[in-house]
Amino acid sequence: MIKVVLATGNAGKLHELRAMLAGSAIEVLPQSALGVSKIEESGANFLENALLKARNAARQTGLPAIADDSGLEVDALGGAPGVYSARYAGVGASDADNLKKLLKELRSVSANMRTARFRCSMAYVRHANDPTPVICEGIWEGYILETPRGSNGFGYDPVFLVPEKSRSCAELSSVEKNRLSHRGQALRKLVEQLATLDH
Ligand code: IMP
Repeated sequence: MIKVVLATGNAGKLHELRAMLAGSAIEVLPQSALGVSKIEESGANFLENALLKARNAARQTGLPAIADDSGLEVDALGGAPGVYSARYAGVGASDADNLKKLLKELRSVSANMRTARFRCSMAYVRHANDPTPVICEGIWEGYILETPRGSNGFGYDPVFLVPEKSRSCAELSSVEKNRLSHRGQALRKLVEQLATLDH
C-alpha cells in the first residue's frame, strides 16, 4: 500500500476520498493523525492554497500529500468572496454571517445578473518540493438566490441555485451534491490521474 496524507481537518473530505480510493493501492491518512501543524492559507488563488497545504503536509510527514481549496466566485462582485469565502464577514465569521454579508452585497442585483460558481482546486505532491504536482479543478455554475432555501450542506449552499435541479444546493441530498459539485468533479479527476501514476 502507498500511504498518502490528506491535508485537511474535515472528516467529510477524508471519508469521500477514502470511499473513492477503496480497492486501490492508496491508503489515505488525515494530517491530524500525523501531527501536522496547519499553514496559513496566504495564496492568491485556490490552486496556490491547495499547493501550500499539500507541500506543508508532505514536508512535515515525508509522505506524498493531497490538498484541496475551494470557494465561491460571484460575477457581480468581481469574483468575490473567492479565496476569502470562509472569512468573508471577517476572521472567525460563521457560515450564517458570511451568507448574510453576501446577500447584503447583492441586494440591488437582479436575478439574471446573480451568476456564480463554486470552484475547487486539488493538488497531489509526491514530496514537499515536487516540481510537477498533479493538479485538478472542478467548477460548478449556478446563481445566488435572494433568500436561503434548504438545510443540508454547509457554507453558501442555501443560497446557491443549481439550475439543472431548480433547487438550492442545500435542498440536494449529499449523493446528488457529490455527483455535481466542484469538489466531486475535482476528486474524480484526481483519482483517475492517481491510477495512472507510478508514484
Ligand atoms: P474549504 O476549501 O473547505 O476551506 O472551503 C472554503 C469556504 O468556501 C467554505 O468555508 C465555504 O464558505 C465555501 N465553500 C466551499 N465549498 C462549498 C460548498 O460545497 N458549499 C458551500 N460553501 C462552500
